[in-house]
Amino acid sequence: MGKLTTKDHSRDVAGLKYIYPVMSRRAGGLSIGINFNTNNACNWRCVYCQVPNLVRGSASSIDYSLLEKELVFFLEEVTSGSFYDRFEVPLEDRVIKDFAISGNGEPTSAESFDKAISLIGETLDKAKIKDSYQFVLITNGSLIHKEQVQKGLAVLNQFQGRVWFKLDSATQSGRKKLNDARMSQKKYLENLLLSASLCPTWLQTCLLKIDGQSLAVKEQEAYLKLLKNILEQVNLQGVMLYTLARPSMQPDAKYLSKVSGQELNDFAKKIRSLGLNVQVSE
Ligand code: SF4
Repeated sequence: MGKLTTKDHSRDVAGLKYIYPVMSRRAGGLSIGINFNTNNACNWRCVYCQVPNLVRGSASSIDYSLLEKELVFFLEEVTSGSFYDRFEVPLEDRVIKDFAISGNGEPTSAESFDKAISLIGETLDKAKIKDSYQFVLITNGSLIHKEQVQKGLAVLNQFQGRVWFKLDSATQSGRKKLNDARMSQKKYLENLLLSASLCPTWLQTCLLKIDGQSLAVKEQEAYLKLLKNILEQVNLQGVMLYTLARPSMQPDAKYLSKVSGQELNDFAKKIRSLGLNVQVSE
């Protein structure tokens, strides 16, 4: 068996349906991904999306018994050290940093999303993992108006989870261009406020260049204005700013490029001036 590196993001490296391991450079250890969207279906189509053969739609129904079995099995593999040995993971990286519900599509589109969160939370609790990991939901936030998703966020909160909520642009035209998202700006903001009121919420914002052009000044101003507006109403944990880390699998890939570390850090500084915590990944 070869080495599992931070460059290896294949979702089937462990040969499981719902669980995939990633050595995360950002987190500095093992990130255990949980993928509900085994059908590669999402209700958005972000220009930078790394999901191959992405289709519009919702997650297919979850086989809960298999999900539990895989999670228990994989936890045993990791905690016994056999997974780390098999992939020759260096000793200093043998630590579980997070469990991330992050699929090949939007995870909150799964039927009985709240049930899936409960099952994962309970399984993690039972496993009595020694590493101090985070339990994270990575979402585009577009379905939080649904009762069942709100229930799921409340359950996530009970298990000390976190929401990472995608906000790439604060304008409707920007979100249409970057995410192919059709939801109104007003509704999107309502969903973000709901998320932050139900469970600690971080924003995740991807800065990139399209045709060599970075985020326009007026887009930056709109983003900062929106943050101010949000902070007057709810608490946010902070903002994770990043740029393209791996190639997009969408047709737009050829028009996209990374922004510089300088650009990321300049924007981070403006966000910090609002009193928010900002983490930058170059
Ligand atoms: S929300 Fe996530 S899965 Fe959906 S298109 Fe965007 S990057 Fe891909």
